[in-house]
Parts: sequence; structure tokens; C-alpha cells
Amino acid sequence: MAHTTCIRNAAWIIAWDVAAGEQVYLRDADLAFAGNTILHVGKSFPGSADTVIDGREMMLIPGLVDIHSHPSTEPFFRGIREEHGVPAMFMSGLYERSLAFRSDAEGRRAGKTVAYCEMLRTGITSVADLSGADPWWIDLAAQSGLRVFLAPGFASARWHLENEWQLRYAWDEPAGHRGLQQALALIAEAVRHPCGRLSGVVFPAQIDTCTEALLRESWAAAEAQDLPFTTHCAQSVNEFNEMLGRHGRTPIRWARDIGILGPRSVLGHAIFTDEHSWTRWHTKDDVRTLAETGASVAHCPSPFARYGQTLEDFGRYRRAGINMGLGTDVSPHNLIEEMRLAAILARVAAQDIDATSTAVLFHAATVGGATALGRADLGRLAPGARADLVLIDLTNPFMLPARDPLRSLVYTAADRAVHSVFVDGEKVVDAGRVLTLDHAEALAQLGEAQARMEADVPRHDWAHRRADQIAPLSLPVR
Ligand SMILES: [Zn+2]
Repeated sequence: MAHTTCIRNAAWIIAWDVAAGEQVYLRDADLAFAGNTILHVGKSFPGSADTVIDGREMMLIPGLVDIHSHPSTEPFFRGIREEHGVPAMFMSGLYERSLAFRSDAEGRRAGKTVAYCEMLRTGITSVADLSGADPWWIDLAAQSGLRVFLAPGFASARWHLENEWQLRYAWDEPAGHRGLQQALALIAEAVRHPCGRLSGVVFPAQIDTCTEALLRESWAAAEAQDLPFTTHCAQSVNEFNEMLGRHGRTPIRWARDIGILGPRSVLGHAIFTDEHSWTRWHTKDDVRTLAETGASVAHCPSPFARYGQTLEDFGRYRRAGINMGLGTDVSPHNLIEEMRLAAILARVAAQDIDATSTAVLFHAATVGGATALGRADLGRLAPGARADLVLIDLTNPFMLPARDPLRSLVYTAADRAVHSVFVDGEKVVDAGRVLTLDHAEALAQLGEAQARMEADVPRHDWAHRRADQIAPLSLPVR
């Protein structure tokens, strides 16, 4: 018999109402799970339990689903990328930074460990991890206790800069095809891992760095193996203009025309559509195209907002019928804060308080993300779903008064109120502490690795600048 745990008399539970197809509040209810599966969500659980947890000062929410993240690299950019952007590249710092600031393999392991710890401490239980295929990845993902969708990236070209305004491409088409085969082999190995929490996503890295042949081949592999498919698409004005130059069509339109948009597609980040105020293209089709094809959008507001950019707007995409999920494209890996920012930016972009709601954002952070990854057993507290859940401490001062505890969580407390986290029925965070990984040691290693990366910047930067010339500190040092 599987071990049974019952959380008794939870003050609040955010439960999935199967009939209505929406997240709802329950008051003073029980949640029980056996092994990795939820048995009961509702008034008094009639069975016996091996472990009983008192839920009277708790809110139970489903584990959050992060459908777009780069845990191997983003932790390195803390203190570097928050205010780094290139005005001559329509504010995006993506190209300059990713080319000049390169972490080493040893550092990447520390970086990924830090990111996984941040995810766990902020209530993320499932993550699409879009990274390079380092050999220790599967072991670390298994050890973390997270549910990890490994998305090893590959491409036919690398970005290349010779000045500060023009994005260039160094093509190596055979490398793209080899990368796809290596990615598929790594995903197959992950799926076979005995922990049962690992799977994969086919991830040709960017719409502009992959040939049509590679994208079609990747799509066919995703279809054949029934895996989700993701790529970066409509993520910068440079990319938008590049695709117009190549094809006379927007990135989203071209993606549809070559047959890579469908319910298994997840586009990061689908911001620069033909209707976005920064593109001014003559068609008005992209948002409708996303909805018609059934593609999902991985919305990651933080990195773009830091450049002065936003999706226009979250509520409109949702109302058009697009399945929306959320991701943590940058550090911090905090999906609760992304919900807050997404809600605010949607209203600013639409100039409308009714542009979106906390309920819609919470759906995106849970069921929307799970739908994007093809999983009807994640992102929800309901009998039969996986036992991925987060216990929120209602006595945390930042939650009080807890009149509407989801609003307290999203707009005020965020991770400060995350008490414990279960993934697949296993406790992975207790009293705010990660049980599976050594966060402190990884942070120490990350600090050293970031210093090594910074020292190496002049060798990689197109103008041979130092790190502090590209990304100065926020205040002068006296
Ligand atoms: Zn990304």
C-alpha cells in the first residue's frame, strides 16, 4: 500500500472544479494523497492516513508550472542584466549579453542548482528547463525533486555581432541536425529515469537560428514521440525584422506556414506580433493565428519589462482563445512575482482594469502551463492528479489579513509565505528550506563562477569591452 498523507482542515484550498473547468476556493477542507496521486479534495476525508498534517493555518495550492526557463545560465546574470539593454537593438540586451557573458560548465551546474532551489522555494513544482545538454543534467534534475521537462536546445546558426546595431548569423546546418538527434537521445534517457518525474520538450532554440528543414524535422520528431515543441518566436524587434527580410512574413505567420504551430507548440514569447506597437507591420493576423492553431504562449514578463517592453496584452491574447502559460525566463525564478507583474502590465498595456484578473493569471501559472505541456494531471488539486502541492503559511505577516489569500500571495507575500512543497507526493521543501539540494553551497560556487565569467568577457565581446563597461554597477564605488 502506498503511504497516505492527509492535510486536515485546511483553512483554504484552491481546488480544480472539474465540471466547471476552473480553479475555486474551498474552505475548511481536507486533501489526501497516496503515493504520488491525489485521492481526495473536499470535506472530511473518510479514510485513514499514515501521516496527518494540521491545515488550519494553511492554504493549499497546486504546484506552479513554469513552462519557460533557462536555469543553467540566468542565475549568472544577477546584478548584470537587470538594467542591461542595447538601445540600438530596440532595447534588447539579449544578443550582446549572451555572446559576451559565457559561463563555464562547472559554473553552470552551480547555476542550475541555485535556480532549481529558487523554483522549489517559490512553489514551482514543474519546469520546462531550456538549456544546453550538459552531461550531469539528468542526475541533477532527478536529485532536485522537481518535475523537470528537459528541453535541450539546438540550432543551425549562432548569433554574431560586429557592431552594436546589426544582428548577424554564423550558419552551421549539420550542427543543427546533430543537435536534434543528441537532444532526442537525452530526452529518451530522461524519460527512462527511474524517478519517473523527468520528460522532455523538443526545443529548436530560436525561429531565426534554425533552418526551415531543421524546424520541420524537429516538429516531425515531436509528433512521432508525442512530445511538446517549443521555440523562441517573436521575442525581439530584431528577430521580427530579420524574418520579414527573409520571408516577407512575420515570425508567427512563417511558423504557421511551415507547419510548426499546433496544440503541442509553446512559443516563447510571442510578444512582437504584427499588431504590437513596436512593429507597425501592415497585417493584423498573428494573435488570431495563434488562437486558430491552438498554440500556447509562454509569457515571461520580467525580462521584457526591464527593457521597457510588454505583451499587448495578456488579456487580449486570452480572450482570443490562446492557451497562456507563464515562465521565469530570468532570475529570480519566481512565478508568483511573474503573475503579479503580468497582471499589472496587462492593465497598463490595455489601459483597462478589466484587462485581466488574478484568477486568469493563476490559471496560466497552473492549468494553462500544464495544458501547454500536454499534462492533464498537473497544475490542479483534484482526485487522480499528481500530488504536486504547495502549503502557504496563512500566519505569515505578509499574508494578513488573509481575506482573499490568493491576492495576499500574489500581490504581497509571494515566496515569503511558501511553507512546504510536495512533488509527486514527496516533501521537497519544509519550512522554506529545500531538502533535496544544497542551496548555500551552490550560491558560493555561483559567485566564483560569475567572477570567472566576468573576467573572460573582453575575449568574447565584439568590442573587447570589460564586463563593467557593458554592465556598470548601479552606484559608483567610492
Ligand atoms: Zn527564453
